[in-house]
This record gives sequence, C-alpha cells and structure tokens, in this order.
Amino acid sequence: MEHRMSTREIMDISFAMQKYHGIFKKLWEITRPIYTDNKHIPTAEVSTDLDGNFFKFMINKDFFSSLSKDEQYFIIVHEFLHLILGHPMRTVPLDNNGIISSIAVDLVVNNAAITRFGMHKNVIDPDNVYCWIENSFDLEIHPEINEFKSMEFYYYALLAHGNSNIGKLVSSHNFSKIDRKMLSDILKKISGELSDKENKILKSLMDGQKTNLKAGKEDGTEWFVFTPTTHRKTKKWESIIINWCARALSVKEKECVNWHTKPRRLFFIDDHLNIPTVTLENHKLNDRDKLNVFLFQDISGSCSNYADRFYNLSLTIPADKFNVHYYAFDTKVQEFSKDGMYIGGGTSFSIIETFIHDMMDSDNIKYPDAVFVLTDGAGDTIDPTIPSRYYWLLTDGSQLNYIPSESHTFDISEFE
Ligand SMILES: [Zn+2]
Repeated sequence: MEHRMSTREIMDISFAMQKYHGIFKKLWEITRPIYTDNKHIPTAEVSTDLDGNFFKFMINKDFFSSLSKDEQYFIIVHEFLHLILGHPMRTVPLDNNGIISSIAVDLVVNNAAITRFGMHKNVIDPDNVYCWIENSFDLEIHPEINEFKSMEFYYYALLAHGNSNIGKLVSSHNFSKIDRKMLSDILKKISGELSDKENKILKSLMDGQKTNLKAGKEDGTEWFVFTPTTHRKTKKWESIIINWCARALSVKEKECVNWHTKPRRLFFIDDHLNIPTVTLENHKLNDRDKLNVFLFQDISGSCSNYADRFYNLSLTIPADKFNVHYYAFDTKVQEFSKDGMYIGGGTSFSIIETFIHDMMDSDNIKYPDAVFVLTDGAGDTIDPTIPSRYYWLLTDGSQLNYIPSESHTFDISEFE
C-alpha cells in the first residue's frame, strides 16, 4: 500500500531542511514523499520521475515512524547528499551499487551531515548502527583515514583493510532509478537560486570530494555534475547607504509643498525613482532641516579592513543635504583618524545610543534619521529609541544576538 505524506508533515520537514541548508529545502520542494509498506524498501529510496520532473521519495512507513524527528530529517538529508555528491554516477565505474561502494558513499554522506550541516551523531544515530569511519576501519592502524576523504578513497580503503563487521546502510541505494541528466539539470538550476554563502558551503564540500581518479563520463554525463557557483557580485555594499540617502531625499522632496515641479522631461518617470540631485539642486537647506546620518565603524577586529571604504563613503554624502557624523567605536566612541587609533579590547553597541543621546543634548540636534553601523555583530545589548532607524552592515559570519529585531541588517559579504 502507498499513500502520500500529509501536507503538514511536508511543511514541517521543509522548515527543518532550511535549517540545515537551502539546497535541502529546494530539493524537498521538488520531491513527492510517498509512504509505502513495500518490503523491498526497508528504509527509503529516491527515484526520478521524468514526466513530472520531480523526485519520488519512497519511505517505509513503519521504519520512518519508529524514528525521532531529527532521525527522520537525517534520512532525508542523507538521500539528498547522495544526489548532490553525484553518487549515482560515481558508483558506476566501481562496483555498480555493490556493497563496498554502498558503504563508501554512506561514509561520505554520514560524515558530511555531521561535519558540514550541523547534525549531531548521537542525535541522528543514537544506537550507532550506521556506517561511520570509526566502525568501518581500525583508525589506530590507519590514521590516514579521516572524515574528509572521497568515496573513491573509502572504496579502495575498504577493499584493502575494511572491518568485516560494518554498519548498516541508511538507504537501499537504487541509484539506477535516478536519471542522471535530470539530476544534473536540477542541481545546476538550484545552485543558481542559492545565496553565495550557501554555494560557498557546497563548494567546499565538493572540493573535498575531488579524487585522483580521472573524472569519467557515463551516459554522456560527467561524474562531477555539481559545481556550485558564486554569483558575480555587481553591487557594492556602499549602495545600501547611497540608496537610503537618495530615498530619504525624494521623500523629503514630496513633503515640501511647492518645492519644485518635476522637469518636463522627467514627467513620465515614476516618482519612486531617485532623482535627488535634479530636484534638490537649487534648494539650500539649513542645518536643522538636513537629515541626520550617523555612521559608526567597528574598529575592534575583523571589520577594520572596511574602514577606508566606509570613511570615503562618508565624504561622498552631500553635506548640503545631510549632516553626516562619522565615528569609530569599540568600547568607546571616538573620532576616526587615518593616522591610527587606540583600539581597546571588546566591542559595545550600547555606547552608540548613549553617544547619540549625549550629542542630541549638547548640540541640540534631532534623533538621527539613520544610523549605519559596520560591525561583526559581537557587541552588547542595545536598546535604541527608534530601532528601525538602525542599519547594520554585518561582515561575514556575524552574530545577530545583539541586533534589535526591528532594525535592518545587511550581509555585506553578499556585496562586492
Ligand atoms: Zn546511503
């Protein structure tokens, strides 16, 4: 008997997949999960449906319901990793889905799940029944065998000195039911939809799977079907601030009645388009009417190499329309100096808001219209009067714990 998985269960798994990696979620979206009691499928099996252009994921109902949620997610991630790593192609020149290549591919996939995708061995395999290098080899005699080798490496290592008593396979590996061309096309398409960060993780995974064996072709399809590509970065992160300034000016322009009629030649251009230099050219603003923009550069550590660009940017914001305040900070706020600054240990965000309020009192200025903070996110809790006016430019791998949820965040590693 066969029946479809419920929508609720599908959604729950989809949500969990995103947590491990976007590619698992994308693959799950084009997968039909079907429960079966077919004895020939004791755990799970993936095949392709050429007509529908989707994967069919047959799951043994009794087996699956005996598992915890985390163990279930592992089964799915495991199957998808076989696809991503091209195992349907790579097992063909070895022993064509025989037991040795089956163990070899499971060693790669199970290790990848825990070392690359944040799964925990004692959670996904609490009874320690699956194939791991610890139970497949005597690692004291063969310390050269570790968890970052290719399936081909494990294959020959198993032939040479694998333990006779090895673990269970997670799935049945009926890779001949996978259409290689379709798999290759799907992976290519998905890679284009992932973020640079996600593709970077996959690229490092794939690089670790290169082997000394010459890549061959089977059915006209390369073994290494999947080469994650980073998108060409075309936008500079400075554009986040420039665009904000342009937008803020065009809003201000609309607020001013009889400010300036739009030149005739721009009549058909949408009002959302930013044409501040055209419209504001002849209008002098006094300081009180200018927009207050604060820029804070974290100089405590990894972000200091952005300092020059951030500083140069502060000089390009037109001073006749904006009051631009540029500061450096770590545990205190200080004037930026190109000749070097005292850099103490640690970073504080709360001092930024305190500094702003002190300045509002002493200089009689309004609360900032925008506060841009360039940082790696490691600071302390900040409680801004208007958190939505904070724009956090975060460097690669930044923490988010201290960033108020109502404020805006940008991952500047996604920019040039
Ligand atoms: Zn497997």
